[in-house]
Amino acid sequence: MKKTDFLVTGGYGFIGSSLIRNLLSNDHSVINVDKLTYSSNINSLETLEDEKKYRFYKEDICNEKALFAIFDKYRPLNVIHLAAETHVDRSIDGPENFINSNILGTYNILNASYLFWKSLNDNEREKFKLILVSTDEVYGSLSSDDVPIDENGLYKPNSPYSASKAASDHLGRAWFKTYKLPVIITNTTNNYGPWQFPEKLIPLTINKCLKYEKIPVYGDGSQIRDWIYVEDHVTGILKVIEEGNIGEKYNIGANNEIRNIDVVELICSILDNLKPMKDNLKYNSLINYVDDRPGHDSRYSLDNNKIKNLGWEPKFTWKKGLEKTIKWYIDNSEFLEKDVNKIYSGERLGRIT
Ligand code: NAD
Repeated sequence: MKKTDFLVTGGYGFIGSSLIRNLLSNDHSVINVDKLTYSSNINSLETLEDEKKYRFYKEDICNEKALFAIFDKYRPLNVIHLAAETHVDRSIDGPENFINSNILGTYNILNASYLFWKSLNDNEREKFKLILVSTDEVYGSLSSDDVPIDENGLYKPNSPYSASKAASDHLGRAWFKTYKLPVIITNTTNNYGPWQFPEKLIPLTINKCLKYEKIPVYGDGSQIRDWIYVEDHVTGILKVIEEGNIGEKYNIGANNEIRNIDVVELICSILDNLKPMKDNLKYNSLINYVDDRPGHDSRYSLDNNKIKNLGWEPKFTWKKGLEKTIKWYIDNSEFLEKDVNKIYSGERLGRIT
């Protein structure tokens, strides 16, 4: 393979696999670099025979040498960096992996991209882009009367996870400002959809319902998150690659703020219709309030006007996306079974992000 359209990191994760499914279905060639941590799933991408279209490297992005060799061999036109440790609870109990993968790992991606980019001719250098996929959590917690935060919002991360992602964003900005590396940063809201590791709120709730187990809800469940269907996030990333400005940031959200308890209640009521419990019981009878997460942010909300001005719109309504998601987990219940022993078993067992 001489040139590859996309190098994706974290491509066996929840969002990365959705991105690669999209890219391959649009006939792009893809290199996937993933360490295969607990949250990855190798079944989320069909095995492809055509090595010209898809190659996978089981590699840690902290391994600088391996990254250089992959860049050198596959000469990507675009790099989309998603690989990260992603679960807030795990970051509270064990921040080290987050510092390594999310800060040192991003530094390595920047460094490898920069050395590669410098080696390109003018025409190729003009086209190259590095997208760093980040989170709304870097902006910290909003109060109920704050307006949704735009790309100029101050960074106020509150958890080791969000602090590590904020550091990653700052490195990206610095590599653009200092070295002119064509970096674009995207900050997205809570994603939902198929293939998400079942320690996150939506698959966790579905999993608990399907097993008739207690559904843990942090505090009083009043925390507000802004939800986007994963395929909409993916089209947002691709829109930013096509139309976005180098060196800028783009929020990718769907203007869909919901309280955690309302997310859980809606899942329960959809399941009451799709898979009624015995004896006229309702799934919301399984709801169990548990002690709140330390430093739990009360609200995230993104202003998405900048990406909308590029001509992007989310396609999935909340109800449609959630129903599709729930049906997928019902039809693929072996996914929930297979990795159940890997679900976080620390002090904060069963709590939600
Ligand atoms: P995920 O946990 O499902 O997947 C992460 C992937 O990265 C896994 O396949 C894992 O094996 C890989 N990985 C982790 N550390 C690695 C390393 N050192 N080297 C190589 N691969 C490594 O995460 P996700 O939900 O798909 O999130 C992807 C990106 O999007 C992350 O950067 C995350 O911060 C960001 N994000 C996610 C959400 C969300 O709601 N899921 C919201 C905002 C931002």
